[in-house]
Amino acid sequence: MARETVDILISGGGLAGLISAAVFGHAGWSVLLVDPAPPVTEGDAEGSDLRSTAFLRPARDLMAGIGLWDALAPHATPLDVLEAVDSTGWPPEVRERRAFRASDLGPDPFGWNLMNWLTRREVLRVLAEAPRVELAYGTAFQGMLTRTGEAIVTLSGGRRVSARLVIGADGRNSAVRQAAGIGADTRRYGQKALAFTVTHPVPHENVSTEIYNQGGAFTMVPLPDQNGRPASAIVWMNPGPKVLALAGMEQAGFEAEATERSCHLFGPLTLESARNVWPVITQTAERLTAERTALVAEAAHVLPPIGAQGLNTSLHDVASLLALACDAPDDPGAAPVLAAYARSRERDIAARAAVIDLFNRVCRSGAAPVQAIRRTGLKAIYDLAPVRRRVMKAGLGGA
Ligand SMILES: Cc1cc2nc3c(=O)[nH]c(=O)nc-3n(C[C@H](O)[C@H](O)[C@H](O)COP(=O)(O)OP(=O)(O)OC[C@H]3O[C@@H](n4cnc5c(N)ncnc54)[C@H](O)[C@@H]3O)c2cc1C
Repeated sequence: MARETVDILISGGGLAGLISAAVFGHAGWSVLLVDPAPPVTEGDAEGSDLRSTAFLRPARDLMAGIGLWDALAPHATPLDVLEAVDSTGWPPEVRERRAFRASDLGPDPFGWNLMNWLTRREVLRVLAEAPRVELAYGTAFQGMLTRTGEAIVTLSGGRRVSARLVIGADGRNSAVRQAAGIGADTRRYGQKALAFTVTHPVPHENVSTEIYNQGGAFTMVPLPDQNGRPASAIVWMNPGPKVLALAGMEQAGFEAEATERSCHLFGPLTLESARNVWPVITQTAERLTAERTALVAEAAHVLPPIGAQGLNTSLHDVASLLALACDAPDDPGAAPVLAAYARSRERDIAARAAVIDLFNRVCRSGAAPVQAIRRTGLKAIYDLAPVRRRVMKAGLGGA
């Protein structure tokens, strides 16, 4: 089969791969995106991604820069306040509540929340009009040979493509990472996360609420009203067997358990979706680059779902790689571009992975001394205004 040529081959059509295709295509390079799995773009379809993403300001700015945010903004719910609630025991008893306000930092909200299946639908709609982007769903990255000037990629079906840059956006078990011989350091917690949506009688008023208790965080993130009722996306972390039991529970029992775990803050919760189960790990790639190859997003780092860091950190990767590649438009995969990309991202990724790992360990612990640290830490961060502002800025992707 004859060999084709593209500027950039992206392996993986999850949200990170799709948004990468949009920004690199918009910058003028020819892009081929491959993914063996067809995209699911309806909330009630089999295999739908029922997680939501609270896009923080840097992620919004990246997408706004190419007009993509115009397609997403009408569906987004702003997050004006992040409320941290410390609870203990069962039924959970609230011990501390602290509200972090975006208005402390400026006029913008902390972020804007969208369901992942809906973001995927809208990005695909925009990509359908992108002249230099080809989406090859049903096609997998299988292997590559690299040399100084190109990567020769073999795809399922026998297609062979020469690319100046291969972007591995193919998730936590990245085939590109493996083909490049890059290892990964994985920490497991025996935890899983349930993702689902609910409606509730008490309005959320654009407050995102993270409720800590033994087992892990229970996070409610505001969505637009559904069927005339306030709605939220929930991520509920627990030890793996407990999550599997919750996922299999009949609806009324599950709703009662979730309402109890929410400390009744929004009244009785009504389940409005299926329940997705996700493993919770921290994983970092040993390197971000190899010859003609850059890893981004979950191919490079997986974080526990706390503080809306996962995809936001991923889009930080994409923004950095894009900015550096734009300085070398004739060869976006040249060695100096890749070396600069690795330097620009390694420290931030390592720092976020360390902080979220520690935070998750403290959040899930049932040990009394650790619970006391959690409670004291929450008060200390909140009650000292300069510390509070620094933590909020760092969480938003700032220094
Ligand atoms: C419960 C939960 C809640 C979360 N909430 C948030 C949040 O609020 N904010 C936030 O920023 N982040 C959040 N995250 C993290 C975020 O959802 C993920 O980081 C993100 O969805 C992963 O995107 P990705 O594109 O890197 O990987 P994936 O979505 O896993 O996409 C990888 C793609 O690669 C494809 N692929 C696999 N093998 C191949 C191959 N051989 N060739 C080509 N393609 C291949 C797969 O089919 C897949 O489509 C959350 C995570 C979890 C688990």
